[in-house]
Amino acid sequence: MSFPKVRVFESYAATASGEFDGVILLGDFQSDIPDDFAEFVAQAQQLDARVGQQPLLTPADVSGGRLIIAPTGPLTRDYDDVRNVADAAGAAARIAQQAGIVKPLLVVFGVPNEARYGQAEAVAYWGICQALYEPLEAREHLGEESLETVQEIGIVGTLDETWLEAVEAGKRVARDLAGTEPERMAPPRFAEYCQQTFAHSPVRVTVIDDVQQLQHEYPLLMAVARASLGVERHQPCVVRLEYKAPAAEQTLMFAGKGIVYDTGGADVKTGGHMAGMSRDKGGAAGVAGFVKTVAEMRPETLNVVAELGVVRNSIGADAFVADEIITAHSGVRVRIGNTDAEGRLVLADLLSHLREEASNYPRPQLFSVATLTGHAALAKGPYTALIPNGPARVNELTEKLWEAGEVYGDPTEISWSRREDYDFVRPRTKSDDTLSSNNGPSATTRRGHQFPMAFLAIAAGLDKHGTDSQHPLPFVHVDIAGSGIEGGDWQHGKPTAAPVTCFAGCYLHQ
Ligand SMILES: [Zn+2]
Repeated sequence: MSFPKVRVFESYAATASGEFDGVILLGDFQSDIPDDFAEFVAQAQQLDARVGQQPLLTPADVSGGRLIIAPTGPLTRDYDDVRNVADAAGAAARIAQQAGIVKPLLVVFGVPNEARYGQAEAVAYWGICQALYEPLEAREHLGEESLETVQEIGIVGTLDETWLEAVEAGKRVARDLAGTEPERMAPPRFAEYCQQTFAHSPVRVTVIDDVQQLQHEYPLLMAVARASLGVERHQPCVVRLEYKAPAAEQTLMFAGKGIVYDTGGADVKTGGHMAGMSRDKGGAAGVAGFVKTVAEMRPETLNVVAELGVVRNSIGADAFVADEIITAHSGVRVRIGNTDAEGRLVLADLLSHLREEASNYPRPQLFSVATLTGHAALAKGPYTALIPNGPARVNELTEKLWEAGEVYGDPTEISWSRREDYDFVRPRTKSDDTLSSNNGPSATTRRGHQFPMAFLAIAAGLDKHGTDSQHPLPFVHVDIAGSGIEGGDWQHGKPTAAPVTCFAGCYLHQ
């Protein structure tokens, strides 16, 4: 792991001269500039009117002789949020790296004393790490040291180094698993990456890859995997991650969609819509990333159980097709509507297993995390969509996640599960119990990211655990199709590691 490590200082004066080879001064340059730097900024502004308006490097008598001016722009308007800080930090980091700086010192100033900026320095650090991250294939081919040259970041402030690095370690795992091409991260190699990541950690990894066992226990997942079985290196697995807290009071249970490649299956993706579908494992990647942060933080009272469905949705003679009826792990008979709606099939079996074992744990909460629908990206733009069931609403799970997302710079928006969604996936005859999807693209389907939550609830048996049941189970479906990749560019964009920071901020940081 060679993401930049953190060293925290009380003040600029507390750093030794020459300890850093450049200073990043980040803030709203319309506000008061700290005394240590005000004179240098004023001098630079006399020479260059861009100073304070855009990111620039200027020579100055500071550590390393180089001062990077990183303006956030205004921060007080209704619609400003802490991502302005992350963006400015990322832009400054790219300048620093290109300038040959390997140990920058970050000074954040002029951030309003408001709740939304409560984690501004931490968000700046993660913004720097996001900007400097290089893909796994590039690091493996060219060497990490030559690509990721910034080794350490000093930060002036009151911060917990362990926490900052634990979140970044998790985000790095999420980016590696989500971003990588389909052969490097074929299911067995995805599992191998998880085993290596959690070796010597308190997280137990179990890989279920026996085909007969999978067929018996994960029938929907195996329908998706059917056309991949003929190619050994593409065969599916379920990766189980477990963290047992010493004094558990609460349990998070995750199902992660890990489609390592999505051809669409027999309903093949045409018209150039297949490129980028190696990133259809972003949900499983995000869950593994969050568990990595858990492994680093070792919470006292929080259990985590995760099941990742790592499957290639291939096309071939044995591919499953629309109209098939498959009995899920839950016993629910699912009629396939479209083979490109494969993620919800994988998730339904994973959720069904989690539902069965939930009663073994204190205060279980269930989540499915997935790059599920183009509709989520259309409706929410770059925000993660959260869709709670009744018990999750009563417990305000989505409100808490929403708040954490705002403060920690990994924002979400809440959607609602409605009766129309349940009606949309109703059985049309007695032959089956539910329909997996319609046949249009989700992006042109009304309630295209909400109705799959209804399917998940039915197909996983979670509809029997609503607020009106004896055993209510809070469940939130998390769709990262809009938030998982920078700029929504699934082919070329850098993975964002959503929703690692949001969950970490919500559950691991007080
Ligand atoms: Zn698909």
